[in-house]
Amino acid sequence: MYLAPYSGSIVQLAIGVYLLFGGKWIVNLCIPSNRPYCPECGYDLSKATSANCPECGVKLPRDNSTG
Ligand SMILES: [Zn+2]
Repeated sequence: MYLAPYSGSIVQLAIGVYLLFGGKWIVNLCIPSNRPYCPECGYDLSKATSANCPECGVKLPRDNSTG
């Protein structure tokens, strides 16, 4: 029985799925500041003006603050 070729295909398929879905997820985790979303609940902060998330109330990082 030659299962090696099939096993390789399955592994490659798994890696492809991982790169397709897991890759973006990992990038978003590593670079959370590339999107104006709350790091805790994912709320859209593009319209938020307060220093806290209006959805969950977590304190937001203010990197653009000069104070
Ligand atoms: Zn939040």
